[in-house]
Amino acid sequence: MKYDVLVIGSGPGGYVTAIRASQLGFKTAVVEKENLGGICLNWGCIPTKALLKSAQVYDYLKHVDEYGLKAEAIDKDFEAVIKRSRGVAEGMSKGVQFLMKKNKIDIIDGFGKVKPGKKVDVTGTDGKVTEYSADHIIIATGARSRELPNLPQDGKKVIGYREAMSLPTQPKSMIVVGSGAIGVEFAHFYNSMGTEVTIVEFMPNIVPVEDKDVSKQMERSFKKAGIKVMTSSSVESVDTSGDGVKATVKTKKGEQILEADIVLSAVGIKTNIENIGLEDVGIITDRDKILVNDWYQTNIPGYYAIGDVTPGPALAHVASAEGITCVEKIAGVHTEVIDYGNIPGCTYATPEIASVGLTEEKAKEAGYELKVGKFPFSASGKAKAAGTPDGFVKVIFDAKYGEWLGCHMIGAGVTDMIAEAVVARKLETTGHEVLKAIHPHPTMSEAVMEAVADAYDEVIHL
Ligand SMILES: Cc1cc2nc3c(=O)[nH]c(=O)nc-3n(C[C@H](O)[C@H](O)[C@H](O)COP(=O)(O)OP(=O)(O)OC[C@H]3O[C@@H](n4cnc5c(N)ncnc54)[C@H](O)[C@@H]3O)c2cc1C
Repeated sequence: MKYDVLVIGSGPGGYVTAIRASQLGFKTAVVEKENLGGICLNWGCIPTKALLKSAQVYDYLKHVDEYGLKAEAIDKDFEAVIKRSRGVAEGMSKGVQFLMKKNKIDIIDGFGKVKPGKKVDVTGTDGKVTEYSADHIIIATGARSRELPNLPQDGKKVIGYREAMSLPTQPKSMIVVGSGAIGVEFAHFYNSMGTEVTIVEFMPNIVPVEDKDVSKQMERSFKKAGIKVMTSSSVESVDTSGDGVKATVKTKKGEQILEADIVLSAVGIKTNIENIGLEDVGIITDRDKILVNDWYQTNIPGYYAIGDVTPGPALAHVASAEGITCVEKIAGVHTEVIDYGNIPGCTYATPEIASVGLTEEKAKEAGYELKVGKFPFSASGKAKAAGTPDGFVKVIFDAKYGEWLGCHMIGAGVTDMIAEAVVARKLETTGHEVLKAIHPHPTMSEAVMEAVADAYDEVIHL
């Protein structure tokens, strides 16, 4: 019952950490209370993308005539769409099980709780408690849907993301509270399926962390698709006593009552840090997060934390990168501190959003003199041919030294295009180098080259 590395939680933080630890020669175990793969594979990244794929196929079918095709009796089977998504999630979780076996990692089923002396108690489903010890204990217990006091989730009429991706029947109408990535992905999915969707966002723009131009384009696209968008608005209370839900929404113009079948609360996450022994060990937390240094060490030697439980962006690729960095440091192999300024963020609605680095507003606030370029997909041959001309690529450079400060994309397939900007920025590439890197024609990626060209007053197709 003694390990070199023991990881609590098997999300994209935990299971990736365990694999890297095993590759580095550590005797490794991972403790999991639910399903292998964590939120990402079971209730987050992957099942939502399966739902969004169904929405995309359905949207294509609804518009086949625009492609010179004909299709009749187009319909959807909501239950089957949900079933497909759950099946994809299940398959991914089994994949992690395979990876654990392949890498000779022990899977310990149950609820893990850290104890002083580098020990962990695991309570199995039968209630039996087993003690394990390890030289290095890595906490990767992730997070869950955050509940607002005035919007308590009952799992039926006021729901979180888990219920939203497994509803037995499709609601006719839905209020989505919060327009971060999770909120807008569900808003798009349900709208495509035929649910009447209203987004209520507290901030003045939807997808508020994005560049303002992106937010504005998203709002235009969503409104065109039939989604109602209420910004600078907040849900004050909900009344679930009747058939559906009545939400009292405070807007700039006063209070409004919205009625719907269901409310989806998508206002962020709450970390799983309760009852896992942090206080017994003396591990310091701040504002719901476990505090760590650059190498994910907590204040108590031998205890580490990575992923959603720590400060920083709550994203799967961040959790994985943190775990890898953490165990590489433990192993003493060469590794690098993560550059949190170069983390891509993606939203997979239609249109998709992808961004990295500073927004124009933030770059200005930081005092840079800017060169900004923009290329709309309406001027891209590939986008026109594909029938997806909405959106653009926007690039932001430091005028003095040519540093690529930020890249913001909205449009079809941009989540697969942002990696170019991430790699270029990692290599400290200047705008001119990107411009001279020949991009294939016709592709959506040409828009990156053209946006950079626009910043340098050399754009060809505008
Ligand atoms: C709807 C939705 C969509 C998302 N889409 C994306 C996306 O497209 N891209 C992206 O990058 N991110 C996305 N995310 C975020 C992403 O899922 C998280 O950032 C990621 O899962 C965090 O990984 P983690 O390993 O830190 O924690 P988690 O994935 O939350 O895993 C933690 C694991 O620990 C287990 N656990 C908790 N406590 C204990 C305990 N005491 N003992 C044993 N096990 C325990 C849990 O059961 C869970 O399996 C999405 C999230 C949601 C909710």
